[in-house]
Order: sequence, then structure tokens, then C-alpha cells
Amino acid sequence: MRDARLDPEISPASVFLALWHAFVFRLPSFQQLDSDLRHSYLQHWIGAERAFRDDTLRYSLCGFDLDPLQAMLVDVNRRFKRGKVFDPGRVQGHLVAALDGIEVLSSFSRHCESCLKRRVTRKDQAGRKIEETQYYHRAVGCQMIHSPVKPFLAWEWLQPGESEETAALRLLRRLPEAYGSRFFDILVLDALYAQTPVLKLTQKLGWDVVISLKQNSRDLYQSAVRLFARRPPDASFTETQDHKLYRVQLWDTEGLPFTIDNPEPVRVVRSEEILERNRFREGKRVRHSTDHEWLWITTLPQSAFSAAGIRQLGHARWKNENNGWMDLTKHWAFKHGFLHACEHRPQRLNAAGQREPVPNHGLAAVTLILLIAAALCSCFVLRHSKLVRRDHLTAVAVAAQLRTWISKTPPSIRAPD
Ligand SMILES: [Zn+2]
Repeated sequence: MRDARLDPEISPASVFLALWHAFVFRLPSFQQLDSDLRHSYLQHWIGAERAFRDDTLRYSLCGFDLDPLQAMLVDVNRRFKRGKVFDPGRVQGHLVAALDGIEVLSSFSRHCESCLKRRVTRKDQAGRKIEETQYYHRAVGCQMIHSPVKPFLAWEWLQPGESEETAALRLLRRLPEAYGSRFFDILVLDALYAQTPVLKLTQKLGWDVVISLKQNSRDLYQSAVRLFARRPPDASFTETQDHKLYRVQLWDTEGLPFTIDNPEPVRVVRSEEILERNRFREGKRVRHSTDHEWLWITTLPQSAFSAAGIRQLGHARWKNENNGWMDLTKHWAFKHGFLHACEHRPQRLNAAGQREPVPNHGLAAVTLILLIAAALCSCFVLRHSKLVRRDHLTAVAVAAQLRTWISKTPPSIRAPD
């Protein structure tokens, strides 16, 4: 671990371990970490010779070197693959990853030089409409999704003024360099990525794709809907899941032109689903049903994957929105706002020989440490923990038990490698 401070008393490795402690044991806030750092057991464990406060954490993290963190995340995931962590849940033998855009924080007041901006209309206290600039950060994350352990493989921040597809393409190009192109087989993508450059790049890198098809891909969407309206479904079945009943009808065709400019033939699958479930209204159980329509584009051929298989893959991405980033923000107390717009940063000399603050890496560093902690913890809980298997404890409860245990038992120190 490295940061931009000169000859610091508290090493970057100790700062990393302090954050690691906060995430692994699910501390509710950085104030809590601040108070834990007063205890000698924690100072001892992270290799710090004295107590330190959140200002030291902030000053270090703002100038943190991201490369060793990136390398650690890659190393963790490669070990998972060698250790067969991704084998359970393979889809017809395939490993599946998904790409998603994620908004990380937004503010009307605090902002930094790498904030994205948008105009937002909202109502003031008197109920008048006012237009204001909102500042936010957004990233694209790639995550394994088929297996119970679902680590993020890579993370790419959107730069001010650039589109989400640009960041996504940069992430996709970076993946094979870090992991090799055979790390997974199928990439599941949001409708936003139904674009020629994405399709061309994934084909070049050797991944099959399943992409949501929505009305933003107007020509392909309309030709698929017109074609399917004229014929009966190619398959229909019912499926029960968590007390919900799905009546599914599927249409499937190969050979529709992707766009007018890029008429490469693609396969389109459409699913019409009636979801029936019980609801309680005024103390009575009533049957309630809703209609849903889904379309996907895929490069997987009919000979290898049935329409039902494509539907399963398409819905895997949809579920990802519920248990990917959401889980991290909800159950991991990811309150990183304390690093945002941090003005007090280590200085360096610029090309003109003037002193200036180093670029702010605080948010990026904290995010990477969180992704590493989340990957290892979910692997530990799902694959090793007797507490989970024997007592059916949740991951949050396991974290609480481990925290009680380490605060009682000063662990023996092994210097970080
Ligand atoms: Zn910002």
C-alpha cells in the first residue's frame, strides 16, 4: 500500500487495515471507527503505534495509490476462480458476469473537481419549482452473478462530461488485461449498452452477450415486436418461485438486423409473463396478477441455449440490481461522503514547479477497499462459516460475532505481506 504522504507516522497499510476493519465488521459509521481506533487491540492489530483519528484516515486516503488496491481485487478474484468458488450455479456450464451503471452519491452543495453535474428541478419549502445543479458520482461495475458468491471484478468511474458507454468500454477493455478473456463466458448487459461499439468489442474479446432490448433500440425493438405479434409463442410454461406463480410465453427468432447502420443478424427473445401472487387486502387473501414484458438480444445460438435459458440469464441481471450494489450500500454502511470534496490533501509539484494538492482518490480508494472486503466476507460466510451452516446466521450477524470475538482476544500479529 502507498499514499502521497511523506514519511508518515501511520503507514498506508495501517490505514488500509483500519478501513478493512470498518467494512468487515460492518461498523455503522466512520465515527465508530474513530472510537474503535482508541482501543489498543485495534492499534495492535493494524500495526499502528498510537491512536489516530479520522483526519489521518482522510488525509491518507485522499492521496492513496489505487494500483495496489486494483491488483489486490484481481488477485482475490483469481484465487476464487482457482478455488472453484465460481463453480456452483454455472448456467449450462457457463460463467456469467454482468455490467451495471451505479450512482454513488449526490449533493446540491458539496462537490469536487471530478463530480458529474446535472440540472434538477425540485420544489423549495414554499412549494415553488426551482432548478438547481446537482453534483454526483457514477461508476460502471462488472460483477460475477451466477454463483452464490458475487464479487465485483472491476470498477470504472465516469469522468466529467463522458457517457456511461465510454466508461463501460474502458472497463471492458481493461478486463482481459487483468483476468484474461476466458475468466467468464457470458456478459449480461442493460439496454443502454445495446450499441454497436459494445457488441463489436465483446465479440472481439470472445464473450457472448445477453442485452436487454428496450425502445431506445427503436428499429430492432419494433421489428421484433411486429414479427412476434403475428405468431403463437415458441414455448410456454409455468414456474413457481417464492410463493409467486409465473405464466411465461416465449418468442424466439434468429437473424434480425441489429441496426440499419450495422445490420449484423442477432437473435431476439421476448418473454410475456403473468405474475400471480397472493395479497392481503383488509385481512383477506386475494389473488393478484400483473403483466410483464421483457425482450433480450443475444449472441448465444438457439442450438446451445433455449429461449427459457436466455430468459433465465436476462433475469439474472435484473436481480443483480437488487443484490449487487444495493446490498453494499444497505448492509455495509457505505458512508463515504466524509471523503468527498476533501480539500486538505498532500501536495506535490506540478509541471510548472508549483505546489498543488494531489488528485483526490479518496472515494475511489474507499470503494476498492469495500469491494475487496465484500468479496472476501461473502466468500467466507457462504463457503466456510460454520455459524452460517449450523446456526443459519445472516452475514451481518456473523460480522457481529466475529467483532465481539476479536475485541476480546488480542490476535497475534502477522505483518501484512
Ligand atoms: Zn465529487
